[in-house]
Order: sequence, then C-alpha cells, then structure tokens
Amino acid sequence: MKLVYLFGGGRADGSAEMKDILGGKGANLAEMARIGIPVPPGFTISSEVCMDYLRNNRYPEGLEQAVEEGLKHIEELTGKKFGDRNNPLLVSVRSGARESMPGMMDTVLNLGLNDETVKGLAELTGDERFAYDSYRRFIYMFSDVVLGISRASFEKAFDDMKKKIGVEYDYQVPAEELKKIIVTFKEIVKREKNIDFPMDPREQLWMAIGAVFNSWNNERAIEYRRIYKIPDDWGTAVNVQAMVFGNMGMDSGTGVAFTRNPSTGVKEPYGEYLVNAQGEDVVAGIRTPKPIKELERDMPSVYSQLMEIFEKLERHYRDMQDIEFTIEKGKLWLLQTRRGKRTALAAVRIAVDMTHEGIIDKKEAVMRVKPEELDQLLHPMIDPKASYTVLTKGLPASPGAASGEVVFTAEDAINLAEQGRDVILVRHQTVADDVGGMAKAKGFLTATGGMTSHAAVVARGMGKPCVVGAENINIDYEKKVFTVGDTVIKEGDIITIDGTTGNVIMGRVPTIEVGLSSETQMLLSWADEFRRLGVRTNADLPEDAKRAREFGAEGIGLCRTEHMFFGEERIKAMREMILAENEEERRKALEKLLPYQREDFKGLFEVMEGLPVIIRTLDPPLHEFLPNSEEKIKEMAEEMGVSVDEIKELMERLHEANPMLGHRGCRLGITYPEITEMQARAILEAACEVKKEGKEVIPEIMIPVVNDAKEIELQKEVIDRVAREVFEKYGVEVDYKVGTMIEIPRAAITADRVAEVAEFFSFGTNDLTQTTLGFSRDDIGKFIPLYIEKGIYKEDPFKTLDTEGVGFLIKIATEKGKKTREDLEVGICGEHGGDPASIEFCHNAGLDYVSCSPYRVPIARLAAAQAAIRAER
Ligand code: PEP
Ligand code: MG
Repeated sequence: MKLVYLFGGGRADGSAEMKDILGGKGANLAEMARIGIPVPPGFTISSEVCMDYLRNNRYPEGLEQAVEEGLKHIEELTGKKFGDRNNPLLVSVRSGARESMPGMMDTVLNLGLNDETVKGLAELTGDERFAYDSYRRFIYMFSDVVLGISRASFEKAFDDMKKKIGVEYDYQVPAEELKKIIVTFKEIVKREKNIDFPMDPREQLWMAIGAVFNSWNNERAIEYRRIYKIPDDWGTAVNVQAMVFGNMGMDSGTGVAFTRNPSTGVKEPYGEYLVNAQGEDVVAGIRTPKPIKELERDMPSVYSQLMEIFEKLERHYRDMQDIEFTIEKGKLWLLQTRRGKRTALAAVRIAVDMTHEGIIDKKEAVMRVKPEELDQLLHPMIDPKASYTVLTKGLPASPGAASGEVVFTAEDAINLAEQGRDVILVRHQTVADDVGGMAKAKGFLTATGGMTSHAAVVARGMGKPCVVGAENINIDYEKKVFTVGDTVIKEGDIITIDGTTGNVIMGRVPTIEVGLSSETQMLLSWADEFRRLGVRTNADLPEDAKRAREFGAEGIGLCRTEHMFFGEERIKAMREMILAENEEERRKALEKLLPYQREDFKGLFEVMEGLPVIIRTLDPPLHEFLPNSEEKIKEMAEEMGVSVDEIKELMERLHEANPMLGHRGCRLGITYPEITEMQARAILEAACEVKKEGKEVIPEIMIPVVNDAKEIELQKEVIDRVAREVFEKYGVEVDYKVGTMIEIPRAAITADRVAEVAEFFSFGTNDLTQTTLGFSRDDIGKFIPLYIEKGIYKEDPFKTLDTEGVGFLIKIATEKGKKTREDLEVGICGEHGGDPASIEFCHNAGLDYVSCSPYRVPIARLAAAQAAIRAER
C-alpha cells in the first residue's frame, strides 16, 4: 500500500481518477499539477491510511518516513525548511474525502509556526504584522481542530482587544497587539487543557494529521454521512501543502469561484474574493467579500490568468468547476478544484450549453442531471400577480420560494418540522452543525455571508430556497427575534423568502408552479431519443392529465375511479348503492352514478386524445365510502332518510378485520357485476361520444386485485356484453382492451394463464409489495426506519422497489405473460413507477412503460433514458 502521494513542481503521483484513496481534493490537486496549473507543492496521505489508523489507533509502518519524504519534496521546491528559524516552511493540513463534505471536517493553516519561526517569517517577509497575524490564526485553528477548545473564548478575547484599541477590521490590528493576543491565546490553551501549546513543528504536524483522521468520526461528519448516504468506511485523506498567503497586502487575496453560475447555469465567472485575507475568511461570512468580476479591475492580469484557467479546467474536466484560489503578492495559485455543486436549474442549463459548445454529447448531457433533481425545477415560485411588501433583501443564493414560521436554531427547526410545521431557519450564518436542522427546514435566511457561504452551498445541494447576506436583519438569539429597522419578527411569525430574487417578505405569499424551461425541454427531448420505456401518468382528473401531458406523458396508466365517487351528489348515490338490499335497488343507485362517471371519463379521453387511457374498475372496500364519525353518521342518516342504527348496523356488517385483504378489488365486481357493468358502460359511452367528436380514443379497462384468470374472464364477459350494447346504441365502435393489475403474488405466478384472458398487465407495486412482503402499506412507519437502520432493507420498499422479492415476481410474470401473448402490454402503476432506481429495474425487466404522478413524469423520462444508456454501456 502506497501511503503518501506527492504533487507539484512537475510531479504528480496521483490523478483525478484516484479519488477513492486520495479524496476529491488530493486527486484534483494531483490532476491540476499534471496539467500544468499552478498549485503549491505538497503531498496527500491516502484515505486507506486513515481507516488503518482509526482501526488500529496507530499509524502504519513506514508512514513517518513517507511523510518526511513529502516534506523534503516541498522543501526542495519552495527552498524553505520546515521548522527553520530563518527560512521557515509553513504548511496547511486539510482533510479531503472521496466525496466533498463541505465544512464537515477540519483544516489547519500556517502549521510550522512557533515563537521562533514567527520571527523568521517576519524577517523574511519584512512584515511583522503579517507574521504575527498568521501565528495567532494558527493557534486559534489548531486549538479548535486539534486540541478541541471552543473557538468562542478566542473570538471573545480578540473582539475585546479590538474594541479596546478601537479598530473595526482584523487587518487593522497592529503587530504589537497581535503579539499580546498570542500570549493570551496560549494562556487560554493552558487554562482549558492544562498543556503548553506545542512548539515543535513536527509534533504539530503529527497532531494535526491525527486530528484530521479523527474528524472523520466527529458527530457532524457522521450526521452528514447519514443524510447523504456516504459509507462510514471511506475515511478521509490528508493533504499537506506549502502555504501561500493571501494576506500579504493589497496585492494579495483569496477567493472561491465557480466557472459558471451555479444557481442559474449561465456561463459567467461567479464567485467572491477578499483582498488581503486568508483561507476561511471568504466562506466564514465574517467579512462580506467582493464579486469576482471586480477582480478584473483590481488585478487585471491575475483576472485574465484566472479566466484562462477556468477554460482549461472546464475543457479538461468537461464540467463546471468550483475552485479555491489564493493570490500571493500578485501570483495566482489554485488550491482546489472540484465538480461544482449546482441547482437543478443550473445542472440542466450547463448540460445543454456544454453540449452546444461541443464539450459533451447528448448522451452525456442526459446522464449529467439526476432525475430526482428535476423535482426542484417544478418548485413553486412567488406568484407574479401577488402583492406584498418586501421587508428586506439579501443575496439570492438558491432559487424558489418558501414560507414558514421563523426559527432561530437547528433544534427548533427539527422539533417543529416533526410536528408537521413549515419552518424557515434564520441564522447569522449557518455552520456544519446546523445541517440536521437545515434538512428539516423549508428554507434558510442568513444575515451574513456570500453566495458561497455554508448556507448557500447546502441550500443548493438540498434544492431549498435560500437568501444569504441579508445585512439589514439584526438577530437576537436570546430574545428569539430579528429586527429590520423598527419591524420586529418573533419566533413563530410567518415569513416568505424568495431565493430567486433575494427578497424577504412578511407573511405568507401565494406561489405558483413553474413549467419546464426551454433547456429542460431540450434535455428531455434528448432523453426521449434514448429511452425505450414509455412514460404514462396516474391521473383521475382532466387537469392533472393535462399537466402530465404537458410534462410529456404518453397516456394514462392508471385512473382510480373511486376518487370520482366523493363529490356531494355522488357520495349520496354511492351510499344508496351500498345500502341497497337487492340488485334492483343497487342498479337504481348505480344509474345515478353513470352520468357523472361518463362525464369524468370524457374529460380524460379528450385531454389524452390519441393516447391510451387505462381506467380501473372499483377497488377499495365499500366501507371506505361510509362516514367515519358519530356526527357524520347522523348527517348521513338524515340525508338518506334512515336511522342511525341502520347505518351502524351496515357498518358492522361491512367491517373487516383485514380490509386490505378483504372484500375489495375485483371481488366486488364478481359479487356485484352490476357495478362493473355501470363502469364499463360509462367508459365505453364516453369513448363513443368522444370518438363521435372526431377524436381518437384508446380505452383500456383494468381489473384490480386479481388472483386468478377466471376472475378476469368473468369480468370480461360483463364488459364485452356492455360493449356490444353501447356500440349498437351509438352506431360506432371503439377498440378497447381489458387487462389486469398484477398486485397479488398468485397472479404473478400464474401470469401465463392470466395472459390468456388479460390483454395487458399493469403491476400495482403498492399492493404487490404489501402482499409479497406481508407489510401493511399503511402501518410500516413503526418499523421500517429501524429496518433500514439495521440494514434489513436498504430503502423503504414502498418507495424503491424490492428487486429481490417483488422484482423477482415482476420478472417472471412479464416473461410468462409475454410467452402466452406476444403483444401483451406490460407496465407499472404503483408509486415505484416514478422512482428512478425502480424505473431502471423496469427497463431491465423488459416492461413496456412506467406510469407515475404528473409531477414525476419528467423524472421518469430522464430516468428511463439513463437506464437505457447504462444498460447499453
Ligand atoms: C398499487 O397497488 O400499486 C396501485 C397502483 O393501486 P392502489 O395504490 O390504488 O392500491
Ligand atoms: Mg392496488
């Protein structure tokens, strides 16, 4: 096992492909060195060393020597010497895992400084202030990261001193005061930990390396891994690198930038920098940085060099990059590059633009956007017609609008969100510890910080609205209020934030849904070129069907007719039907329902003109249509002219111990064929009427909860008889199909026989999961989280298909069904039809289409294309 990888000065032991062992940062530093981008020389200790160290609690053999070699490499290239009084080498020590985990683990800068080397640094640079400023920063960071002393006591001491000498900014503090504060800092260390601050640079280095490794297991890193599903056994690499200084005067600076706008995707340099500042000053949100474009004026040649590097990096990595840079006395250094996190909007725009720029091809563009991310693009925006007063404005850090109650701590965000309340987290600035609460909030508002501050980065990652740097808000954490001028906003007050404009608004503002942008439509049209699976929608109402069609749905995969029985008049007729004592009475009630159903179906056929529409016959047990409280029972009794007792008696009769396995689905249609008859008549009459309007209709009637071929046979007889009657009456004929849901294992197992009768299959994976796993779909909350935690299931099986069990049944049923009937149309209409991982399974299992809710149609189109591309690769 190679322990340490060197880079810089024309050497690069590693490369971008080696993220697994070098971490993202280390791998990309090596890659940049490889392609001739200026990076300060350094070395990376592999993440394998980290896991080895964490397991054995000591460093592996040979590490010490390898680190010494690394130091020699840096010394040779910089001409400086680690620990040397006259020409000291200073290094940074940073963590870097396989996937970036912003702010989760630790960094120490200026390592190598002590009471002696600081003098050397002062002489060497001719800048005593700079040297002591670097030293106090080092003590502060080292004490926090390595010694575990809270930053607050140092910050307070520093702020008190600034107040005492009457300066506003850190860089105004003179050297003499810095020397004094260093003494104070060391006293704090002594007081808190009862140790002397370590003076030996090598001791400092080894302590820092150990601390970075250990930071892999700090609480916030563990929490972050849990949220983002990052394995615990990856470990982090450690990067040790020569320091370059952005705080050596007004011709120095430090910044972070994206090669394109990560919020919108527009091709423009985007980022911030601070003159005469170091490291974390930019992200920490303490000083508000300047937009990157001003660098063009401040340091024109550095700016143009930076732009060249942007181009080079984008062409090389073929993606938008997120970089960190430092300018030391006019010389530009890159400290990091990585794939830039972006909003969904930006992801789509960048993929499409880069295809047009010839950097990537269409297939790659389709692979670049996570299907789930498209969800963000459909997020609500403030209704342009709404009127409201803007309380204040900050930077628009992550698009979309959200309203909620103001909370000031991550814990409060978690507590209220768990009660189902919408909250907006308001902070000075967020830190890594807040991530748990941020995951629960609808959006974030911060008083300080820029577009690359922690809150902004996390919000874009989570796809939540965010406004940062709203400098006019004054937060009082103790009183739990914030003020803007004279306006006081208390905890629990409702505000709206608009991450698209940066507006902060009092109260709730109406929002509207946004459609798909032209770039998204372009990307989806490319996806359509590659996918084999069809995409339909689950819709019961014409409005939903219309929206789904706009999103690209190619038909309706499931219309649940029971949803149409709940209007005022309809429920009455439905209840009459349930109360009926014999067939004749039932038919009378059904007669009343027929026209409603016919109108509903006509609406769907019209919207879906020329596309298949699958309508399912009645599915839920009848008691679901009865009232569920004393008061409602009374109301029903009055309305129907029966006694309360009669209703209660009926309810008793319909009561089932296991309603999901009871008198439901086609069992109802078998018991009361007149229900199926009415529904078939409504469907086919609607079809004939729409056909007469000159529109093409493709009705498909679907029988639910089927066990055996014989059930469909009986139902099909009813439907076919009704069809003959209807066609005769209307004088037209329409092609229709009768098919079945496969949602009981027995139907899947006997699919060859089922397909002798059924002309299509649709997997009802909600019920098929329930019946295969024996998990009640309505009661899993009590144990599924624990099951996932224990690794019994990787995901909630009602969200992502259990491929081993349910998937197995889908595969054999598809195979057997298609063997019997070659042109059998096979789809899926359970919730899984909109889940990307399940869609991939459906592609591989040879299904013909997936059907999902309207808002998931774009996601399904993209996921289906990605599945096809992956299968081909
Ligand atoms: C299913 O069971 O997967 C299905 C689509 O039907 P429902 O959710 O209506 O039971
Ligand atoms: Mg079902």
